[in-house]
Amino acid sequence: MDNTVSLAHSAQCLKKAIPLMVKYKMPVTPINYAIWYCYVQGDNPQLNTELDKVISLHNTCSAQTAQEIFNKHINDEELAFFQQMSERFHGTVEQMQFDLSDSIQYSKSFTTSLVDSQNELKTLSSINSFNEILSCVERLTDESIAMQDYARGFQTKLAQAYNEIKDLKEALSVTQETVDKDSLTGLFNRGKFDTDIVEFCLNASSQNEHGKLAVLIMFDIDHFKRFNDDFGHQKGDEVLKLVAQKVQNSVQEQYRAYRFGGEEFCITGYFESINDAMAFCNQLRLSIAKLTIRKKEDSNNKRNISASFGIALMEPFSKSCLLVEKADRALYLAKTHGRNRVEIAADM
Ligand code: GH3
Ligand code: MG
Ligand code: MG
Repeated sequence: MDNTVSLAHSAQCLKKAIPLMVKYKMPVTPINYAIWYCYVQGDNPQLNTELDKVISLHNTCSAQTAQEIFNKHINDEELAFFQQMSERFHGTVEQMQFDLSDSIQYSKSFTTSLVDSQNELKTLSSINSFNEILSCVERLTDESIAMQDYARGFQTKLAQAYNEIKDLKEALSVTQETVDKDSLTGLFNRGKFDTDIVEFCLNASSQNEHGKLAVLIMFDIDHFKRFNDDFGHQKGDEVLKLVAQKVQNSVQEQYRAYRFGGEEFCITGYFESINDAMAFCNQLRLSIAKLTIRKKEDSNNKRNISASFGIALMEPFSKSCLLVEKADRALYLAKTHGRNRVEIAADM
């Protein structure tokens, strides 16, 4: 690998590599960057054959397989290069977007001022050496027309470059979103939860100057297996989507909702008091309890949906795994105390 490779060349390769990562729903990690970068560069045919094979089988490439391909064909020294290059690339994109946005504005105002002065000159009439001024004005007008043409061409080029970068940035954020979201419910997924909960606990300990309670809510659909067993797996999926919809409707911007796994969900957020957190859960619980699902072949055969909730209050400086354990215990209590109810975890 030639580490002196130009940024333009890197950008060209990434421009081809990123759509492939988007297409195959692969997160933009340095490892994935590296294997797709090498793929589009094409100087390692064995890597290409292997990646082609994985993609044709699974239409994606898991983190583990990507790591294996990386280990086999690319060395660690090169990973540092990809890390560095992707950071440099992101930095350059940011800077270029900023510069271009400035230049587009400048170029537009330049064109406007030329047109203004041209119009102003055209309106001059009572001047002594009229012919002289007129020829000067004609010259200026010609020049200004040429400059306007140039400026317009420049503007078009800048706008094209600007849009291309914008598309690239959007593609990157879409990839990140597909990585963070659960495809069935549209809520954040378990991977995102595992990352966020650590940050949530850290922030709650260090920045919670408003004195609010940092809360983790964990809830689980009651007797969910019976929906699958009696109504079919598809209806089970429908239940998950209906419940997720209620969650989406109830969470405000300051809360985050996740599908923790199977028919278990989590919500993190800050509340004024325990009563507030309790009231929020009960409201969501009641809205879920209004849901029903009907059997496909027998629409008279309907069944109510309900969920049990566990609330855990965050102790300052406690670990994220403790908070999850607390919420899980409270949820277990809600199940054993009869389901379709909310319980708060006692301190451990
Ligand atoms: P409890 O009230 O104690 O929570 O009982 P439950 O039946 O809800 O819990 P259990 O853990 O026994 O069953 C959960 C079932 O959820 C088992 C599993 O097959 C099913 N499941 C997990 N993920 C999905 C999914 O994505 N779609 C469907 N349809 N079912 C799923
Ligand atoms: Mg359940
Ligand atoms: Mg469960």
